[in-house]
Amino acid sequence: MKDNKNDLVENLIEFSNIDGISGHENDVANLIIRKLKGIKGIEFDRDNLGSLAVIKKGKGGSSAPTISFTAHMDEVGFMVTEITKTGFVKFSAIGGWWGHVLLGQRLKVVNHSGEEIIGIVGSKPPHLLTSSEAKLVLKIKDLFIDFGATSKEELISWGVNIGDQIIPFQETAFQTPNKNRIIGKAYDDRVAIVAGIEMIKRLANTHHYANIIFIGSVQEEVGLRGARTSSYKWTPNIAFAIDVTFAYDTPGMEVKDTKLGTGVALSLFDSSIIANPQLLRYTENIAKKNKIKYTFDGLVGGGTDAGAIHLTKDGVMTMTLSIPSRYMHSHNTMIDIVDLSETIELMVEFSKSVNNKTINELKF
Ligand SMILES: [Zn+2]
Repeated sequence: MKDNKNDLVENLIEFSNIDGISGHENDVANLIIRKLKGIKGIEFDRDNLGSLAVIKKGKGGSSAPTISFTAHMDEVGFMVTEITKTGFVKFSAIGGWWGHVLLGQRLKVVNHSGEEIIGIVGSKPPHLLTSSEAKLVLKIKDLFIDFGATSKEELISWGVNIGDQIIPFQETAFQTPNKNRIIGKAYDDRVAIVAGIEMIKRLANTHHYANIIFIGSVQEEVGLRGARTSSYKWTPNIAFAIDVTFAYDTPGMEVKDTKLGTGVALSLFDSSIIANPQLLRYTENIAKKNKIKYTFDGLVGGGTDAGAIHLTKDGVMTMTLSIPSRYMHSHNTMIDIVDLSETIELMVEFSKSVNNKTINELKF
C-alpha cells in the first residue's frame, strides 16, 4: 500500500459523515477544496450545476491530452414533501431505495441553515400487522418520519421545511476490528471522492505529461446530470467514472470474482455504457504491469456517470473503475481499504503513462 493508510481512513470517515443528497453537494465540494488547497500546480473550477473540477496540468503543455476521473459527490437520501397536521413528515426518495431497509431507522432532516433534526421511520408493531400486511414491502410513499412533534406548527418551529434534504442518520463511520474495512453511509460514491483526492496529492510529486482533471460531479443518483454538464465543460480525451460496484461475497449473493479485497473492478459494461475496448485493454495492461489487483465486472442493472460522459460531443473514450462494496443504498455500506488503495494506484499509474502517442494508438 503506497498511500498513507491513516490519511485514507481519516478521509473515508470525514467524507462519509458529511451530508449531501443530489442537488445539495456544496458541503462535499467545499471539503474537497479544503483537503487539496495549497497543493502546488492545481486549480479549481465549478460548472453551473455545481460540479467541481480539480485541474492538475501536465508537463505536455497545451497540446497534451486530458484525462478526467469523475466521482459523484451526491448520496442517496430523501426530501421533505409534506408535513401533516399532526406533525409527521412524508417524503420522497432521491435516488434508489428499498422500503425494507428503512423501517425503524433513524433519518435526519438537514435544513438550509445546516441545522439537523433526527427522527425515525415509523412502523406498526408486529402485533398489529395482518398476515397480508406482514408480507408486504412498504412503498416509500406510505412511510412517514416521526420527530416527536405534537403538531405541524411545532415541527416547523424546530426548523423542518418542505424541500429540506433528509439523510440516513449514523453517528459516524467506523473501522472494523481488522482495520481494513470501514462501515458508513454514503460510500456510494464518497469512497471514490477519497480516491480522487489521494490521486491528486500523489500526482503533485510525480512527472506526468497529460493534464489530469478530478471531477466531483453532482446529481448522479437522479440521472447522471452533473456528468453531462461537466464533461461538456472540461471535455477530456479519456474519461473514467470512479464508482462503487457490488461485492459478491455475502450469504445469498451469486458467486462472482468481485469481492471485498479483490482490488479494483474493471467494468466491462453496465446498463448505460460498454467500456471502450481499446481503453479497457490498455487499462488492464497498466494494472498487470504494476501488479495492481483487479477483477472484471459487469452490471446488468444500474449505471455510472460514464453513461453520460461517453456521449459528450462526438464521443469520449470512457470506462468505469469500480470499488467493491456491500449494502449499497442503505444506512451502512462496507468497503475495504485495499480496494481503494489499488484503485488509486491504477488511477495514478494510468495518469503517468499517457501522452499524445497513446491517444493515437487507442483511437478508432
Ligand atoms: Zn454511485
